[in-house]
Amino acid sequence: MTACKLIRKLLNLKGLLVTDFELKIRDKKVNLWVKPYKNGCRCPHCNRRRPIVRKMNGPRVWRDLPICGLSIYLWFFPREVICPIHGRVQEDIPWANAYARVTYRFEFALLVYCQLMTQKAAARLLRIPKSTLSDLLHRTITRMRDGHKIRGLKAIGVDEISYAKRHKYATIVYDLDRSCVLWVGQGKGRETIDQFFKEALSDYQKKNIKLSSCDMSGTYIGAIETHCPNAKLVLDRFHIVKALNKAVDDVRKEQWRNASVDERKAIKGLRWLLFRHSSNRSKKHTRTLNALRKGNRRIHRAWVLKDEFEHFWDYKAPWAAVKFLSGWITTALKSRLDPIRTFAKTLRKHKDRILTFIETRLTNAVSEGLNRIIKIVKNRASGFRTLQAFEDMIFLTVGDVDIPGQIPVRFRVI
Ligand SMILES: [Zn+2]
Repeated sequence: MTACKLIRKLLNLKGLLVTDFELKIRDKKVNLWVKPYKNGCRCPHCNRRRPIVRKMNGPRVWRDLPICGLSIYLWFFPREVICPIHGRVQEDIPWANAYARVTYRFEFALLVYCQLMTQKAAARLLRIPKSTLSDLLHRTITRMRDGHKIRGLKAIGVDEISYAKRHKYATIVYDLDRSCVLWVGQGKGRETIDQFFKEALSDYQKKNIKLSSCDMSGTYIGAIETHCPNAKLVLDRFHIVKALNKAVDDVRKEQWRNASVDERKAIKGLRWLLFRHSSNRSKKHTRTLNALRKGNRRIHRAWVLKDEFEHFWDYKAPWAAVKFLSGWITTALKSRLDPIRTFAKTLRKHKDRILTFIETRLTNAVSEGLNRIIKIVKNRASGFRTLQAFEDMIFLTVGDVDIPGQIPVRFRVI
């Protein structure tokens, strides 16, 4: 076995021949001169052998996976071929995409590493600077998503998310059936969500959407109702519960502010206890909360209302749910607790959109689960400075296209 053949076998290089090599120990670098195995001179579009017109001006170089601390570079003089159908084109490069400066194997490793770890760690493993990595990642993901169309969309969810350490917002659109992210846009206003409906969906697709879910902000509700005439809108349960919890907390804060030192003792350490769902509350917790009846009646009242509202989600029959909801709203409005009354007014306004939950049982599990993954990605990177970087990571981890799956199978090795 010749040295070139050994190198080819050792590095598991497929679809090419090694013609020469150069080892630069001081630079921790290996240069390999390669050429396509047997089947060079093919048109990249139709994959037929075509006559060579000329050699390109200079050699091209591709970075391959680093091995044992050595960076590997592949060198090759691509030729120009003439295809009767596609004209003069650069011949097909079997180990890399036409315009890429890294091999498919490198791209695959890059994508998989970035799914698993921070970009900084991935850059270190791949022996490239972090800025180069973000750049490469963006180009690879854009290429993979290029020309991709949304298909078979039946249920959508819309939500906002902050990035860049809570200063900026993005709107995210989910496919609730397939639990993946379809679209990301800058901002959380009406024009952002309108842009999604205009750019990403055809009229037919919009009519085909049967279910939709979003929070209680008027922006998304308005946009969904305008663009998707056949969609049943369900207000996201998670957001409703969150709003109610916030109202209860506002009552608590107000009481805390106005309380004397002695009174404060009775309402200390309540914050997280008030938020707890009845199913994961211990007897001791319940006793503490019941004791509030004497300690602070207003907080107790708010908590009782919040606890009662939990039953709403268990109703099966729409008529019973309507009755319950109306009753609850009336009681809440009489409560003389301003934050709770504001919440009840919002509920009254959106009553129909909340009752759809009982019929459809559209749970928020999907968007909540996706949101959690997105938050992990965001925290791991300690925020993103640009939306583009954030978007890349969202599409890579929870996007509607399996991005590493776009790399040809034989190159999916790390
Ligand atoms: Zn061709």
